Amino acid sequence: MDIVERLADDLLDARRSIELEEARQLVEVPTAELPALLSLAHEVRRRWWGDGVELESLVSAKTGGCPEDCAFCSQSMHFDSPAQRHAFLPLDEVLGAARATEASGASHFCIVAAVRGPDRRLMDQVLEAVEAIHEQTSLGVNCSLGLLTREQADALRDAGVYRYNHNLEAARSFFGEIVTTHTWEERAETCRLVTDVGMNLCSGGILGMGETWEQRLELAYQLRELGPSEIPLNFLNPRPGTPRAGQRPLEPTDALRAVAIYRLIFPDIIIRYAGGRELVLRDAQALGLVGGVNGMIVGNYLTTAGRPAAEDVRMVEDLGLPVTGGRRE
Ligand code: SF4
Repeated sequence: MDIVERLADDLLDARRSIELEEARQLVEVPTAELPALLSLAHEVRRRWWGDGVELESLVSAKTGGCPEDCAFCSQSMHFDSPAQRHAFLPLDEVLGAARATEASGASHFCIVAAVRGPDRRLMDQVLEAVEAIHEQTSLGVNCSLGLLTREQADALRDAGVYRYNHNLEAARSFFGEIVTTHTWEERAETCRLVTDVGMNLCSGGILGMGETWEQRLELAYQLRELGPSEIPLNFLNPRPGTPRAGQRPLEPTDALRAVAIYRLIFPDIIIRYAGGRELVLRDAQALGLVGGVNGMIVGNYLTTAGRPAAEDVRMVEDLGLPVTGGRRE
């Protein structure tokens, strides 16, 4: 009996997650057996979650000019990347994006700013926007504003922010090759703060930056220690002008294998398709939705265009999966 069959017998009844040694064995499963691994991941997600898929859109409320030097990011001021740049959007534009999100069928809306961490002015702008979106829509409002102080985390929680996104981005052992202006530990500290104050933590990473499979697993188990309620899985979309511009994109089979393995490590949380899926997976995107994924970012990403949200909603519905979470929890 191979590892996928053995785990199927065990995981579905025992409702447990896999350990590192089991994950390592799944990395070695032949590509021809990938459909069996995806099928197991889908069964596990159905057992814990049912069939629903949660959709979220985001607005890049403040874009570009970031003082950090994350090697994948076209918003860093350190790189000569042709990304757009703008100060915090006027409130009516943020509200317009939130209304469009609600109309698309998504249930959550994330306000994102390209900063090391928010200053007082940005916090005031974000809190004003969160209040207005709560008043005018039924969306769950999430934020992604970089490194936080405890006071800022308290203020966001008090404003009713549902989830705070702060990705670890990469395994601790690989992080120094990606970022030098802040440390992995600083990122982890903000993640701990988010759960400490009682917000839901959304934290994941970017796969395909040159890391090894062992480091993809390392990232997963480091995330597990932080207790996220959601993991966004991004696949590197190499941006011109950044140090990772020449990186070869992940093979679709590697991206799908990662999705399935992450689902088995995290049976009980949202695994969300995030940036890069269109580039890396192309026509194979639907396979992830029956291979462990139960959430998607729809519409545009921070610096790259996604496909229209209606196409993603149709893909989910064509698979017989309901779009869930239509109202704020
Ligand atoms: S990933 Fe975030 S912190 Fe890093 S350079 Fe881009 S916007 Fe700044």
